[in-house]
Amino acid sequence: MKLHEYQAKEVLAGYGVPVPEGRVTYFPDDAWMVSMELGLPVVLKAQVLTGGRGKAGGVKIARTSDEVRQIAQELFGKKLVTKQTGPEGVKIRKLLVEKAADIERELYFSIVIDRTTSRPTVIASKRGGMSIEEVAEKYPEDIIKIPIDPAVGFLPYQIRRLKYDLDLMAQEKEAAKIFSALYKVFVEKDCSLLELNPLVVLKSGHMLAVDAKMDIDDNALYRRKEISKMRDLTEVDPDELEARFSGLNFIKLTGNIGCMVNGAGLAMTTMDVIKLAGGDPANFLDVGGEATPETIAKGFEIITRNPSVKAIFINIFGGIVRCDKVANGIIQALKKVEVKIPVVIRLTGMNKEEGMEILKKSPLKFYIANDLREAAKMVSELANSKAATVEKTTTKEEKKEK
Ligand code: GDP
Ligand code: MN
Repeated sequence: MKLHEYQAKEVLAGYGVPVPEGRVTYFPDDAWMVSMELGLPVVLKAQVLTGGRGKAGGVKIARTSDEVRQIAQELFGKKLVTKQTGPEGVKIRKLLVEKAADIERELYFSIVIDRTTSRPTVIASKRGGMSIEEVAEKYPEDIIKIPIDPAVGFLPYQIRRLKYDLDLMAQEKEAAKIFSALYKVFVEKDCSLLELNPLVVLKSGHMLAVDAKMDIDDNALYRRKEISKMRDLTEVDPDELEARFSGLNFIKLTGNIGCMVNGAGLAMTTMDVIKLAGGDPANFLDVGGEATPETIAKGFEIITRNPSVKAIFINIFGGIVRCDKVANGIIQALKKVEVKIPVVIRLTGMNKEEGMEILKKSPLKFYIANDLREAAKMVSELANSKAATVEKTTTKEEKKEK
């Protein structure tokens, strides 16, 4: 789960990390009021769950009262298109208004989990402000990497080395306090990423966390209630949200084949095999090992709501669930949810034969495949031909209108 910048800064402030004075706002008038309270100049920052806001015009400095009004009017409701959002962009609903910092230099600091060493790893650089990918490409020698042994934590000698490498000897005490606090936040909030870009040295010599990005490990949210409360439901896709409440794991993608699979690993594999067969998945959907009529029905409901979906692929492995039960579940689900597009089914595992028999006998028309590759080929062809027909009809209608 991603936190907004203003939420991450709230958490950081609670650990004694210096952050700019400011407040999140929801209306242009509110932004103006806060800026008057803080004193000019202020920075207005779009609170959207994506990086690269600065370059996309989502971070602006206002020096006069008129500028605050003008920028706030412009930013609220605007669609911000960054490198990470894709062309559709994200709508700005909140602006963080902060006292502008008088920056001397910008540093990069982050903690991530390095999967190869299985350790939290500090990544830092004197070249803050630009993306770390860009630093890695242009100035790889300027990246500092410090693996941390979680059993002993971020050790004083490592912090000393970091201060030295970042030229923070003049801020020695302050820097040490900030770095240990950041590691403490990372551990105590179960972060998968904590990134300050930039962490700055001010003209006054003091340090300040000007930007903050915090991602929390979803598997740890059950024990971080104070964090899960912060989830911004307006930033979550409504279908994904509904799926989550129904115990499904659903992620929308851009293709035209709706996928329904039991188990996350099999769901990933299914998408790979569809791609290999020339198809394009419209979603990732793991209905859970059990695949009950209720979860299957909910799956159909969510999948068919997406107008791009031209065919559905159900891929079930009877491991902890029997295939005959799943087959009955599919038929029952289709009594509740009307599905007008072709459905390809591949069942395997326990009671496969019985399951296939039930599907074949049913008055509903399914495309039944024997193995995964065949099924993927079938569904890709169906989806592609359906897509072609639809394109043809729309062009015809357009011509008629003209
Ligand atoms: P991002 O583009 O989404 O990473 O947003 P940031 O919060 O990192 O802002 C982008 C850039 O705007 C920073 O690297 C700074 O150069 C600049 N910036 C942000 N806040 C301030 C501020 O208070 N004062 C000054 N002078 N520059 C700022
Ligand atoms: Mn930044």
